[in-house]
Amino acid sequence: STFAPNFKINKMTFEDFDLNKPLLNALNDLGYTQPTAIQEKVYSVMMSGRDVLGIAQTGTGKTLAYLLPTLRQWKYSKDRSPQILILVPTRELVVQVVTEVEKLTKYMNVVVGGVYGGTNMNTHIELIRNGLDVLVATPGRLLDLVLNGDLRLKMVKKLIIDEVDEMLDLGFRHQLTSVFNLLPAKRQNLMFSATMTDKVEVLIDDYFNFPVKIEAAPTGTPLENIIQTAYHVPNFNTKVNLLEMILQLDADMNKVVIFTATKKLADELYEKLETKFDDIIGIIHSNKAQNNRFETVKRFQSGHYRILIATDIIARGIDISDVTHVINLDTPDIPENYMHRIGRTGRADKKGIAITFITEKEREYQAAIEELMQYSIPITELPENLEISDVLTEDEIPQVHMKTLQIKLPKKDEGNAAFHEKSAKRQKVNNKIRRRDAMQMKYGKPQTRGAKKKGG
Ligand code: AMP
Repeated sequence: STFAPNFKINKMTFEDFDLNKPLLNALNDLGYTQPTAIQEKVYSVMMSGRDVLGIAQTGTGKTLAYLLPTLRQWKYSKDRSPQILILVPTRELVVQVVTEVEKLTKYMNVVVGGVYGGTNMNTHIELIRNGLDVLVATPGRLLDLVLNGDLRLKMVKKLIIDEVDEMLDLGFRHQLTSVFNLLPAKRQNLMFSATMTDKVEVLIDDYFNFPVKIEAAPTGTPLENIIQTAYHVPNFNTKVNLLEMILQLDADMNKVVIFTATKKLADELYEKLETKFDDIIGIIHSNKAQNNRFETVKRFQSGHYRILIATDIIARGIDISDVTHVINLDTPDIPENYMHRIGRTGRADKKGIAITFITEKEREYQAAIEELMQYSIPITELPENLEISDVLTEDEIPQVHMKTLQIKLPKKDEGNAAFHEKSAKRQKVNNKIRRRDAMQMKYGKPQTRGAKKKGG
């Protein structure tokens, strides 16, 4: 290898990697000349043959970090069953990674395909019969295809698991380990996780070969190219007024993602904004039909939509470029979700702005977020002419009969409406335990809403 690991990061170009002409030409077409930090680090470790554990969020360039060395090492074989297998948690991510592979292999004889649950299996069977070199899949559909005898995995040489923490949170552990057991023992593994959780650690200890750990940026550090600000707002309806106001005033807000905690709130917000921002606003959450979801992302990506309303999980991992602003209509109760949300903007060396609306009740979440980041979010004064609403939503009206209150799980939007009933149930249970444990470990006390209500 001609790779010299002691090059200065910023001076290094892709020409310094021992990439081949087809990959270099594709990178050139994409306009990428310099590798990001994680791309540089992963490349050398991958070429040395070791397993890799990458701790990196979307926006760090992690997709190319695993694609470049794996595609570099790929060799043509007549047997077109997949040599490179990439597992991701959501359908959106399957489509996105497939697109990325297509771009990178423009000058190569590589066939890539994506499979995911919730759609007719026949198209996927057809795709596999025609031959594939790179397969991008969600774990459930992959297993179905193998168990049906439509897909063989014996040629797999590289296994990539993206968003490992998210997969484990979604209850995919069993499916993942089933896949491992079907793969050839001799293979190289690359795992990418935004956060390093106990579950991730256990999975790695059980199944992988002392991977080299590579961190893009320590988890919880606010990304330097995101300008953060927040407003203290009394209630939901005032938040909507404030949102309308800033959307109308700030002409620089031309690609805005607005996060809401639940599908219900997303729908409510959409209804309120729809008339004012007719045809430039889209909404995406797990209750929307798949075609609709793809179409919405496409319209936002192309600039047709100026505003996209989204729930947490659905937006995970989706790479939408040039997002100018992220607005958190609610303050996430899970501090990591704040990081994931704001990470939608300020990507790949572009400046981004993250604005968070915080009610009195949400101040404790703000505190947890600030503790995680070790950074206090600067607060902006409410505009003088903002209309303060005193109309409360159903959820905001103080509850009198505390005893009869149901203990609610932390709000979390299942990213994939097509999960089987069973796994959806399992997911809820797992989620509850993990979040509470994790929060307890991190902060020494339960931080979830459910836990709080139970306690007092
Ligand atoms: P990822 O973290 O893989 O989701 O990538 C985030 C974004 O950065 C994607 O839009 C990539 O196409 C882009 N990107 C990845 N690597 C580079 C690079 N070396 N130079 C410029 N942009 C990049």
